[in-house]
Amino acid sequence: MPRAYQFTEKHFFAFAAKVIAQGFRRIEPYEFSAELRVANVEPPTPRIGREEGFVFCTMGLEVRVWTSFIIKEGGIRIPDSGWVVIREHGVAKYFAPQMYRTKNFFKRMLDWAIICKEHIQARPVCPSGKAFMSIIRKIHYRTKSVRYYWGCEEGGHDHPKPPTAPWDIGLSPRSLKIVELKRKRRRKYNEKRKLDNKPVFGTARKIRKGWKKKTS
Ligand SMILES: [Zn+2]
Repeated sequence: MPRAYQFTEKHFFAFAAKVIAQGFRRIEPYEFSAELRVANVEPPTPRIGREEGFVFCTMGLEVRVWTSFIIKEGGIRIPDSGWVVIREHGVAKYFAPQMYRTKNFFKRMLDWAIICKEHIQARPVCPSGKAFMSIIRKIHYRTKSVRYYWGCEEGGHDHPKPPTAPWDIGLSPRSLKIVELKRKRRRKYNEKRKLDNKPVFGTARKIRKGWKKKTS
């Protein structure tokens, strides 16, 4: 685990300005508590303050950026990492690589916020013309590597085989470079893990550590 880097409010507000300039908006406190109620979960320990997040919505999908930054505490204090996810109807469909609080934390978070924004802006329409395609996540049975693509999930359409589209459509050259580099690194890492007989990375996305489903 890379060493945690101490960020200040200044770093956070610089990031906030950049992500807002990209069309995201801050997730308001009332939305956060309402969502926790709907999801029926509770944080691991009573918290002072609330984690800052940003959201960008278009084409029926949304990108959520969870910064792990709590303003009232003046820093990133919770023992967790940052997340960028794409959701459809409140369900997470795509997870960007987990972000540890190393020196480039906010830079990487902005990069992946933009990448995810480009993904959802390019959401393809089924050739039948009747619906958007959905995000499909496939885990390779042997290598356990995760792959995403767009596909039509509507049964009633006039196509015997569900049409698909590549996940990377719509990405800018800069974003494409970042995702390809990430995949290359992950491939190398997984190959090494396999040689060492260790489970490969990316098999299961963790539910955020410590957040429990309420029993009552
Ligand atoms: Zn279709």
